[in-house]
Amino acid sequence: EYADISLKDIDQVSKSSFPLCMRHLFEKLREDHHLKHGGRMQLGLFLKGVGLKLDDALAFWRAEFSKKVGSERFDKEYAYGIRHNYGKEGKRTDYTPYACQKIISSAPGVGDHHGCPYRHFSEDNLRAALGRMGLSSRGMEDVMDKVRNKHYQLACTLTFEAVYGTSCDVGINHPNQYFEESQKILK
Ligand code: SF4
Repeated sequence: EYADISLKDIDQVSKSSFPLCMRHLFEKLREDHHLKHGGRMQLGLFLKGVGLKLDDALAFWRAEFSKKVGSERFDKEYAYGIRHNYGKEGKRTDYTPYACQKIISSAPGVGDHHGCPYRHFSEDNLRAALGRMGLSSRGMEDVMDKVRNKHYQLACTLTFEAVYGTSCDVGINHPNQYFEESQKILK
């Protein structure tokens, strides 16, 4: 078991352990101080899965959204959705984070940042993102080869192996599993 992440570590952990889909959402949220519904769900449930407590999650989202819409509007329009993800509103279902298959088969529209970058990014954007993760040109070609053959989870697995310099025989099938495997290596 890894330690639950806390707010002060979240930026550092996002860079060291988040899969590309979540890094992208996290960076966009920090940049735009906003995410549309699909992004709030995909990132919000992932963060819950990595152990961010409800109070920390509310503080995290409020800090960003307040810069865009103000804290009053955040409390009125967005806080409910976060509590809802944690099973504190509505039917009180304890929602689980999305697996790769669900994310890959989602259909992000204009202005959306959710989805799987291996499936939904343009080739140029994907190459740029992989470069920022430190992939060599050789590693990048291996990843792009999987992408061309629509093996998105294998592309993600190869990225994991390149980033951490170790094999990942089980393969990547869930963003939270990517996170946990990376934490095992970094601990
Ligand atoms: Fe995220 Fe899964 Fe796509 Fe990797 S394969 S970027 S973990 S959705």
